[in-house]
Parts: sequence; C-alpha cells; structure tokens
Amino acid sequence: RLYNEVQELKGNIRVYCRIRPFLPGQNSRQTSIEYIGENGELVVANPFKQGKDTHRLFKFNKVFGQAATQEEVFLDTRPLIRSILDGYNVCIFAYGQTGSGKTYTMSGPSITSKEDWGVNYRALNDLFQLTQIRRNAVVYEVGVQMVEIYNEQVRDILSDSGSNRRYPFLNSYRIWNTALPNGLAVPDASMHSVRSTEDVLELMNIGLMNRTVGATALNERSSRSHCVLSVHVRGVDVETDSVLRGSLNLVDLAGSERVDRSEATGERLKEAQHINKSLSALGDVIFALAHKNPHVPYRNSKLTQVLQSSLGGQAKTLMFVQVNPDGDSYAETVSTLKFAERVS
Ligand code: ADP
Ligand code: MG
Repeated sequence: RLYNEVQELKGNIRVYCRIRPFLPGQNSRQTSIEYIGENGELVVANPFKQGKDTHRLFKFNKVFGQAATQEEVFLDTRPLIRSILDGYNVCIFAYGQTGSGKTYTMSGPSITSKEDWGVNYRALNDLFQLTQIRRNAVVYEVGVQMVEIYNEQVRDILSDSGSNRRYPFLNSYRIWNTALPNGLAVPDASMHSVRSTEDVLELMNIGLMNRTVGATALNERSSRSHCVLSVHVRGVDVETDSVLRGSLNLVDLAGSERVDRSEATGERLKEAQHINKSLSALGDVIFALAHKNPHVPYRNSKLTQVLQSSLGGQAKTLMFVQVNPDGDSYAETVSTLKFAERVS
C-alpha cells in the first residue's frame, strides 16, 4: 500500500521537529536534548547550567530523534503529497539555524544515495507514481519553477536569460505560461515542463549552480537566502474536460541564527536584517492562519508574498523544525523551538 492511512494529516498546519545526530567526531559532546516523547513532547536543557529553571518543555505534532531515518520522516509526510492530486496547495519548509539539517531533511546529504534521499525527491517520486496510477481518464502535466530570495529580491534560478544562457537545454523544458492561480507570485518566473523525478533533479542541479553565481561560496549563500522549488500539477479529465490544479512548494529557508548586531556590519548586517524580517513575517503569517485571524499579513516580506497561494486558504503547510543537539547551540535551539511553538 502506498499510503499510511492511519497517519492521515488532519489540520492544515503541522509542525514536526527533527533533531539531527551529532556528526562524526562529535560524540563526546554534551547535548541539550533531555527527553523526546511519543506524542511530540520535547524537553531541552542547558547542559552547562545547573538548577531547576533550566528545563523547557515543547510540544509539536511529532518529534523525530537523532536515529530517525529519511524514510521514517517521509512516511509522515506522505499523505500530504497525495492531497496535491486532490487539488491542494502544499507547502513544506525546513526552519532552523545553519547546520541543523534543513538541507539534509529537504534534499539529503550532498552525495546522495537513494536511502539518503530527502523529502523533495521522495515527494516527487510519489507524485509521478500517483499521476501514473490515477491516470485512467485524467491526463496530468507537471511543471516546475525555482526561485531564490536573497535580500528581499526574488531571482528566477531556472531562467534561460542573462548569465544563465550557458544552459540552453533549459528551453526544452519550457512550456507553460506562469499565470497560474496556484503559481508562485513571481510574475515572470519560468515554468518548466517535467515528466519524471530525474527531470526535476536535473533542473534542481541547474538551479543550485545558478544560485552560486556571484556568491563567494555555496554554503555562505545558501545559508543566507531562501530557496523555493515549486511543483505544479494540472490534471485534465478527458471525459468531463474539468481541470484540477494542485501544487507543492518545497522551501529550504535561510539559517535562523541571530546575528550579533554589534559584530555584523555592511553586507552581513543587511543580509541578517532581511533574513530576520522575512522569517518573522513567515512566523506571523502562519500564526495568523493557525489562529484563524481575519487578517493575514502576507505583504510584510517577499517570502510570504511569493508563497501566498500555498499558505492559508485551501493550502496545507508542514514545517520541519530542525535542531542541532549540541549543548553549545542551546540558546539558538530554544529560540528555534519558540518560533515553532508559536505557530503550532
Ligand atoms: P543546514 O542546511 O540546516 O545548514 P545541513 O543539512 O547542511 O544543515 O546539515 C549540516 C550537516 O549535518 C551536514 O553535514 C549534514 O549531512 C549533516 N546532517 C544533518 N542532518 C543529518 C541527519 N539526520 N543524519 C545525518 N547527518 C545529518
Ligand atoms: Mg542548508
């Protein structure tokens, strides 16, 4: 059976916390993780401080411990993917400080074997498989967009213009007009037609290469910009001519770490301010949605504007809150968990 029916997602906003393991050579380090419960409880404590006020309890929809595999994580994500073919817009984020495993959860480690595949690839595989199974009278088309948001500027990283001309084969993917009701709110972001997970992987590699243009190092840039992969599905029922659209936005957010204002200057300070602004705008939007507030402040950042159609309304949102288990990261960990608790 493809789907884990029991785990059917109920609410429209879910928050999963994932704690990454210590990296090789770090095993002797002290951890801030005290306890992980079966029902989404997480207790963290500062290992370098004694006393009774040092423990904090958080509660999420689910907490994945250090031993959780990519497959286990995806099992709980899977039902969301199916709902895309029922016409939902789905948005999956990874939030956390740099080095906490955001990219690992979304994509996997840099050199990836199938077992290490992250949510992105597994979701795409399911999506393509489902469009085969459900074919019968419905013809599906899948299109992909990819943008980077850096310093409140949105850049199409699959564009075939300007500096990206070195990838002429991008043209072969290009078909759709982007004026889709569930597209990214980026008027001229190119949309590329795809037929398989491999097609999407190829596009993602191009996007990642383009992302580095002008950046000193990929790591530097990727931790200070948001990257959105947007997958659109259009199903046409050939008997009734009715059209169903759904979408999946996969978002690798900039690192949430607070930059010391006294130390950062110039570009670095500007970047930090933009990141803080967009992440808190994201928090405000999800908070407003979770509390069914009549006003949802989408317009406070590019990130929330771009993602508007996949946040709220008929959309389903899943946020992975990524945690570095290291005791030295305690302060960042608490700030990350507080952000997530506010929206869950
Ligand atoms: P981020 O994208 O948040 O900056 P990364 O995903 O790059 O963090 O993770 C930092 C390091 O930790 C990488 O070397 C990554 O492979 C490793 N890592 C993260 N999560 C896990 C995990 N669940 N299991 C094993 N290694 C992990
Ligand atoms: Mg990353």
